[in-house]
Amino acid sequence: MDFNELAEIIFPNAKDISYYEQKYPERNLKEGAAVTRFAPSPTGFVHIGGLFGSIIDRKLAKQTGGLFILRIEDTDQKREIENGTLQIVDALRDFDIIADEGIISQNEEIGDYGPYKQSQRKEIYEAYAKSLIKQGLAYPCFCTTQELEEIRKKQEAAKIKPGYYGVWAKYRNFPLDEAIAKIKNGDSYILRFKSQGREDRKIKHKDSIKGSIEFPENDQDIVIIKADGLPTYHFAHVVDDHLMRVTHVIRGDEWVSSIPLHLELFKALGFKPPKYAHTATIMKDENGNKRKISKRKDPEAAVSYYHEQGIPTDAVVEYLLNIANSSFEPWRRANPNKDISEFELQLNKMSVSGAIFDMVKLLDVSKNVISKYSGEKIYDETLNWANKYDKEFAQLLKNNKEYSIKILNIERKKEKPRKDIAKWSDIKQSIQYMYPNIFENMKEYEFQKIIDKQVIKDILETYIEKYFNISDNKDTWFNKIKDLAEEKGYAREVKEYKLNPEDYKGHVGDISTVIRVALTTKHNTPDLYEIMQVLGKDEIIKRVKKYGG
Ligand code: GLU
Repeated sequence: MDFNELAEIIFPNAKDISYYEQKYPERNLKEGAAVTRFAPSPTGFVHIGGLFGSIIDRKLAKQTGGLFILRIEDTDQKREIENGTLQIVDALRDFDIIADEGIISQNEEIGDYGPYKQSQRKEIYEAYAKSLIKQGLAYPCFCTTQELEEIRKKQEAAKIKPGYYGVWAKYRNFPLDEAIAKIKNGDSYILRFKSQGREDRKIKHKDSIKGSIEFPENDQDIVIIKADGLPTYHFAHVVDDHLMRVTHVIRGDEWVSSIPLHLELFKALGFKPPKYAHTATIMKDENGNKRKISKRKDPEAAVSYYHEQGIPTDAVVEYLLNIANSSFEPWRRANPNKDISEFELQLNKMSVSGAIFDMVKLLDVSKNVISKYSGEKIYDETLNWANKYDKEFAQLLKNNKEYSIKILNIERKKEKPRKDIAKWSDIKQSIQYMYPNIFENMKEYEFQKIIDKQVIKDILETYIEKYFNISDNKDTWFNKIKDLAEEKGYAREVKEYKLNPEDYKGHVGDISTVIRVALTTKHNTPDLYEIMQVLGKDEIIKRVKKYGG
């Protein structure tokens, strides 16, 4: 009896690995080109950490002339959800992340290194598992769940490291003929890796983000093929990253402790390991305590949240780079108007410990990003958003395209454009008063200092009769409001009022507020002159009349 016989009995039909080595040759890319991959499991929504990882993956691939793969790791079929793959593809597409290779929709993929769904790569894993069995580096384990539980209990009682290793690995040195007899008998089993590691020896690893780390060697005989015939993550990712010729594995730092095992697997299989880069976990500060962003507690953990809220992709990407890469902020300061794609990412400048995620700061970044957009772009983006999340608003925008763009251009075409919009879902609320049909039904006016209806009416009436001319330029327009203020006993300048408050009923600001509120219902709006230019003469007069002026 030898290992070959065992291997043949377990995987009689598996091909020789040379077949796959030839089928998936080294890629013909230029020196230094990074091949990266995002490898999520289709078990639920895409987490912000996953988005972050794929941003880094894509960026690194792009800036080195390499490529970015989307691979679906669906070997844990119990945890898989319906349409899980589609959800991932869609969530990434919302952020304009489209893989160069791999999965591009629920059932489609592109590229010569596929299939890109692990469940469709079963025969490939079998071939590599078979080669390990042949070398005596993998073996069948017939332990029942109950037996494993007993082992665990004994280890716990003896206060020693749990797991299936060394003397605890019951089937590690099981006689081959007995193993074969059991298999022939139909006993159920799984396949384990036969670790050659020892806990008292150390290995050194150089992580592209975390730098040099020392670990004890792996000594666990981990499962490589489960009872359902599918591989575990550990085994599958090693085979896949090798055959897909991935150069950089960028993944969350919950995986860093698996490095000794993964490096051992690469070695046992005779593969050159990729570079590993473990990204810092995205954390939340809750009353001074740092904790992981959680799927359960934080809506912003799900990438779909940003899309639903209408926070632009650029803003989210910009913010994530900001919190996770120390060279981003100085780059942005030096290049305020450059496109984010021009930022050159260096893995060794990535944050090593948990990056703190702060929604308020993200919205600030977003305001900044949006302030640089044209009215047309905001219109298009908002319409896109509204088509999905607010049909009524979408209709309003479609029916009034030119007018809406004019509204969105208020205080935009200038050196310091307005910075009050953080997300598309805010826009309806902030501009709806500009639409005559909506304004007609608005009832709550936010008058401030001057609240007496008769006084307001009088101010408005005088304004329209004596001072209002839609063709006035901004200076003339404002001077006339000052004239109106003076006529009604208010100071022309705030300064004058402050010097002698007892001489006046108030100042020009109180008067312009009356006009602002009458025309918009709000006391806080963008530039009133520009608003009036967009509303036009007839609508202004109509609005004043509506209030009774
Ligand atoms: N499927 C693994 C996960 O979702 C992938 C980890 C990796 O990128 O290697 O966590």
